[in-house]
Amino acid sequence: WKMMVQDTLDRIKNNKIDFVDFWFVDVFGELHSVSIPSYSLNEEHFVNGLEKLDASSIRGFKSVNKSDMLLVPDLSTYVVLPPVYDDGQRKNARMFANLYESDGKNEIRYNRDSRFIASKAVEKLGKFRLTKAMWGPELEFFIFDKVNLFPSAMGAMHSYGGSGYSIKSSEAPWEGGNASTRIGLKGGYYPAQPRDTLEGIRKDICDDVYRYFGIKVEAQHHEVATSGQCEINLLYNDTLAAADGVVSVKNLVKVKARKMGKVATFMPKPIYGDNASAMHIHQSLWNGNKNAMYDPDDVSELSQIGRYYIGGLLDHASALCAISNPTTNSYKRLVPDFEAPVNICWGVGNRSSAVRVPMYLHGNEYSKRIEYRVPDPTANIYLLEAALLLAGLDGIHNKKDPGDPVEENIYQMTPEQKRKYNISSLPYTLHDALGSLQSDKKFLEDVFTSDFVDSYVEMKNSECKSFAQTPTAWEVSMYIDV
Ligand code: GLU
Ligand code: MG
Ligand code: MG
Repeated sequence: WKMMVQDTLDRIKNNKIDFVDFWFVDVFGELHSVSIPSYSLNEEHFVNGLEKLDASSIRGFKSVNKSDMLLVPDLSTYVVLPPVYDDGQRKNARMFANLYESDGKNEIRYNRDSRFIASKAVEKLGKFRLTKAMWGPELEFFIFDKVNLFPSAMGAMHSYGGSGYSIKSSEAPWEGGNASTRIGLKGGYYPAQPRDTLEGIRKDICDDVYRYFGIKVEAQHHEVATSGQCEINLLYNDTLAAADGVVSVKNLVKVKARKMGKVATFMPKPIYGDNASAMHIHQSLWNGNKNAMYDPDDVSELSQIGRYYIGGLLDHASALCAISNPTTNSYKRLVPDFEAPVNICWGVGNRSSAVRVPMYLHGNEYSKRIEYRVPDPTANIYLLEAALLLAGLDGIHNKKDPGDPVEENIYQMTPEQKRKYNISSLPYTLHDALGSLQSDKKFLEDVFTSDFVDSYVEMKNSECKSFAQTPTAWEVSMYIDV
């Protein structure tokens, strides 16, 4: 431990670091940062943490009367930040910090710290004679030219006074705010340059992701939506590394886009009538270097453990939505015909199902995994990994059989066919998902305190309420003349 502290101090000196940023996320996964000039940094900060956090000012954390919290850096997460963070003016490094509070006598981990929740979930693996879970997140997002996309993105078809903007009825929903990153109708998937004008910015991002954050990118490309939708797939990693990676990459994407005068957004459905952004999560379970999801004798090369894990995910899918799809906008993505899942079922290679078992390489134990297609990039990745793992392990523990894989296009199924396959729908709204979580939260217990789940549901419900009570551009255009 002492050696690690010394090693980190040496690296800060050798890398000529000016500032060290301590990163942590709030309960919604939003990144926060507090910075120390390297000349003020000493061993104490690494051992006892820094007492810089007024937790009552962070959404979802503490009340004012009990608000002091410690930030203790996880030294293994030290990296030099890419130059774009400070226009190359200074050299900065960052570390993720764990949050501690006092229980009166000792400093203990704060039970609403997302990183703590994720690591507590991992501890459950031991009971199943598993050693680690691996995660491959796929990030989809949009890069727009201007911020003023939003009024037009709502798909409003008429103009109206008083709001400061007007939209001509002939305009496509994305027009006006996004001229140069827009490509031809339905030409979004894998176009090459010069139609894809975002290739350069994505490659810049991928370079930094690998060179600075040390995370390998599996692939990057333009996605299906025509208005500048991008995808960057991260190579699988274990629980905390994968989650820290998602937080880092999302932040880098936003910082980079802003520096280029553009706006990157991870909101799932910014544009009516076009594809939305997902955050698919590939998952596998390991016992040492044996992939517990692999069985060469099964038709889909999926082990019984893998099937039960899927059974758990499907069984808890509605409750999971409160964490995997935590915004009101998330449910505008979960509709038919845009490659997003709508139904709770699994398939081999089937993209219209909630869980897919990719079959790229036969006989390859190393790459065997399942893909959970429901989440979107507004999810807090740490809570998401924890909840997915607990749902899957519950499936293994209770031997939940997910039934046969569905290979038909579910979008086109009649209600009768769906009943035959016993396929139910994902929640239609965030409010529904929160209700499901409230009635199905037992599988999270020990890892998520019930106090935390209750307050999460309450905070998110008040978001639903504010959304429900706010007149939108769509409503005005629909009802102004009624
Ligand atoms: N963008 C799609 C969604 O919202 C997913 C596309 C894909 O399969 O990569 O789920
Ligand atoms: Mg994709
Ligand atoms: Mg995918």
